[in-house]
Amino acid sequence: MSQSDEAVLKKFPTGFRGEVLRPRDPGYAAARKIFYTHTDHATPALIARAADAQDVLAVTRFAGETGTPLAVRAGGHSVDGSGMPDGALVVDVSALKAIELDTSTGIARLGSGVLLGEMDTTLERHELVVPAGTVSNTGVAGLTLGGGVGYNMRRYGATVDNLLSMEVATVDGRLVTASAKENQDLFWALRGGGGNFGVVTSFEFQARPLGPQVSAGFVPFPAESAPEVLAAWREYMADAPRELSVIAAMTQCPPMPVVPERYHGADVVLLLVVHTGPPEKTEALVDGLAALGPAIVKAVQPVPWSVANSMLDAIAPPGHRSYTKGAYLSELTDDVIDIVTRHAAAHLPSAGPVASTVQNLWSMGGAITEDFDEDSAAFSREGANWFWETVTLWDTPDQDAGFHAWVDGVHAALKPHVRSNCYVNLSTDNGADWRRGVWGSPERYARLERAKADWDPQNLLRFNKNIEPAKAV
Ligand SMILES: Cc1cc2nc3c(=O)[nH]c(=O)nc-3n(C[C@H](O)[C@H](O)[C@H](O)COP(=O)(O)OP(=O)(O)OC[C@H]3O[C@@H](n4cnc5c(N)ncnc54)[C@H](O)[C@@H]3O)c2cc1C
Repeated sequence: MSQSDEAVLKKFPTGFRGEVLRPRDPGYAAARKIFYTHTDHATPALIARAADAQDVLAVTRFAGETGTPLAVRAGGHSVDGSGMPDGALVVDVSALKAIELDTSTGIARLGSGVLLGEMDTTLERHELVVPAGTVSNTGVAGLTLGGGVGYNMRRYGATVDNLLSMEVATVDGRLVTASAKENQDLFWALRGGGGNFGVVTSFEFQARPLGPQVSAGFVPFPAESAPEVLAAWREYMADAPRELSVIAAMTQCPPMPVVPERYHGADVVLLLVVHTGPPEKTEALVDGLAALGPAIVKAVQPVPWSVANSMLDAIAPPGHRSYTKGAYLSELTDDVIDIVTRHAAAHLPSAGPVASTVQNLWSMGGAITEDFDEDSAAFSREGANWFWETVTLWDTPDQDAGFHAWVDGVHAALKPHVRSNCYVNLSTDNGADWRRGVWGSPERYARLERAKADWDPQNLLRFNKNIEPAKAV
């Protein structure tokens, strides 16, 4: 941050009701923490912890009037650490926790600091859900603005497909509504274009029926059988009901009591199963999955939705370094299966208690790709029948090079097989060329650039998968 920027931040508005934290203030260190630690060398110049929407507006207005670049922190899960960049002015919306549900319509209004688990536990009391992600401490805000994929996407679509409206603080100092009726261009761009266009203070979703109980758990197979299991799973998912979600994780088996001890820590392909359809159909579906190979165990049981939607929390703990790449695949071909299983077998030896090199394959299809048009929102889904991602965790900087090389190696090998569009939230930013393709066609990218020029012409909201404003002609 330059001296002139520092001088500007000294003039930060005095009427701000939340906390204003600069590097020497008590509370700054705690406020700076985000989910992953690989960016924790970053020292934001000022963290403004908003108490309410008016506080958020005060910050966006200040940023606009002074030309100060602005970062946004909600749940803190960004894989790039973009919520807490070095030298930046940060507006932290994590205290905006209000949840209001109209039980007669199922319309839920959430403050932009709500986390997925908070939303799930509130809505499940009314047998409702907003389809979102799979780890309970992820922020609704960042997840929704990128698209939002999870166990209910095959049944109900992406998170953005269930979004009715947003309240947005803009850098020209207004609090506006974005919906299908008001500011339609902003509504389109924010549903997938991330935090490029304004700071969302609240979201209004149409919640959907779910539960009261769902079934969740896993079916692991020894790693040697992974190629045959994945090929059979590909066929199985072609006719699977939309209420069945399966993620295939190539991982090391967690030491769970239900798994024989000889498999604890062993390489496995683990089918992570969530069934939200009629409970009487679960057993046959799980039996069908277990018959895809030499299953080690079938551990799928009835649980409340919030339990199902937090079962990954234990294997995705906060406080570690990480490097994530993701890509859409139109087809799960034999070549792709060969690449992912060979790289799974060649993973790094576990060094330290958390070190892990996981590849997840998500079966998409159903509502997310069939019921919603590619052009209904900026979130791109065309041809996205499968999604591949790496989930890596380690602790010390000396291990960075090894983990980066492993992730980049699988990604490079898959390159001829993956699509150019991608889910922005589950991949590290791969640079300007990649960004021109991730939202789909050149026309769609041009539409995002125009929205950026309209809503953030100075590109103050640049700490994200950044879209530059269209140049005036
Ligand atoms: C462990 C883990 C599990 C995950 N699982 C899933 C999953 O199952 N499904 C899925 O879809 N994604 C998943 N993700 C990805 C997740 O959706 C993104 O990391 C998302 O950006 C997190 O949002 P956040 O609010 O927690 O993060 P933050 O770091 O707080 O925000 C990320 C970015 O979003 C933007 N942003 C946040 N809030 C606002 C706002 N109010 N207004 C404007 N812009 C804003 C900003 O650009 C910010 O830098 C996972 C990530 C992690 C780390």
